[in-house]
Amino acid sequence: MSDEERAMKGDRLLAELEACGALKRGHFLLSSGLHSPAYVQCALLLAEPRRARAAGEAIAADLAARSVEVDSVLSPALGGVVIGHEVAAALGVPFRFVEREGGGMALRRGFALAPGERFVVVEDVVTTGKSTLESAAVGEAAGGRLVAAAAILDRSGGRSRFEVPFAALLSLDLPTWAAETCPLCAEGGVAVKPGSRPQPKG
Ligand SMILES: [Zn+2]
Repeated sequence: MSDEERAMKGDRLLAELEACGALKRGHFLLSSGLHSPAYVQCALLLAEPRRARAAGEAIAADLAARSVEVDSVLSPALGGVVIGHEVAAALGVPFRFVEREGGGMALRRGFALAPGERFVVVEDVVTTGKSTLESAAVGEAAGGRLVAAAAILDRSGGRSRFEVPFAALLSLDLPTWAAETCPLCAEGGVAVKPGSRPQPKG
């Protein structure tokens, strides 16, 4: 593992997220529908191509260390596209993405998997694991075989469970609540969708 890969692990990755403003505090409506006092905008980490490349190389090294054999990378758009592409580049395998279509996820743009193709689903952040599982289901329906899942950040605090190896560069136990039980809503606050516009300072 190179120094840059090591820099993308654990505490130093957390420091990088803080330094680039990717770790935000407030009252957020996550894409999973849950509310949370913290949000990690990985796009800010990945905005610097050298950091994106290092994160991709670190995930690829983690998969290699687990002896996971990968034929391709599949990521959910939009959040998984940059990091998924970097992981695929580091592994030297093709990269494809699934995207929203109607109520579900689908392979579009002529993307196809070969029968039995061993793929890994790569995301920026795993919260509930739902979009990883949805992406995996699309890849398997297309004939592929899920062999691993990976993310920059597992914000479930290690509670995400997959039937395949799961590589995350950083695990954080950030609180999430259903809207009905959200203490910030109980105080009269309104959850905002992160990333849709700049958050006010302070
Ligand atoms: Zn709330």
